[in-house]
Amino acid sequence: MRVPLEIEQPLWRELIAQLKQRGRGDRESGAFLLGPADSDMVTRFICYDDLDPHALQEGIINFNGNGFVPLWKTCSEEQLKVQADVHTHPGEWTGQSGVDQANPMILQAGHIALIVPAYAQLEQQMLEGVGAYEYLGSKRWKTFPHAAAIIKFKAKEHGIFRKFFQSLIDRFDRKKWFWGGRSAAAAEKF
Ligand SMILES: [Zn+2]
Repeated sequence: MRVPLEIEQPLWRELIAQLKQRGRGDRESGAFLLGPADSDMVTRFICYDDLDPHALQEGIINFNGNGFVPLWKTCSEEQLKVQADVHTHPGEWTGQSGVDQANPMILQAGHIALIVPAYAQLEQQMLEGVGAYEYLGSKRWKTFPHAAAIIKFKAKEHGIFRKFFQSLIDRFDRKKWFWGGRSAAAAEKF
């Protein structure tokens, strides 16, 4: 089984905002999620319509193969790889359509496809309700019970708090050691 992808929450929010804006509430939109080639991180995304200006025009995604030229250029220049793709569906249903199943955006086993409901228009669209699939090759897919099984938020925002609490714990430990030492010394006296 492959390792879950990691994305920082602000980047996810930005992704959803872009999908929402480009889908305008009446058509599908999508993006490739990219990250350093030797990692499972998602560090940026590129929307389909920035690679192929006509990709969204039919209401469902129709990505022209020429769009891969600028995609691979970005990947090679920035030493990134495509970690996943994401596209939106109109309603709550985030299952794969026949077209989705038959046309993996990246024909490589281990590639992850995400499907965001309601044209990404829902308030606070996080991972809940998002469909998640792993391409296994030969037009076969694995379905994840929930997206959080394959993509996680990187806990960066907690870093500063964790540091703060760690310093408190360190201090507390030192104190305990100090008092512990004193009482041990006092016990020796009696
Ligand atoms: Zn679809």
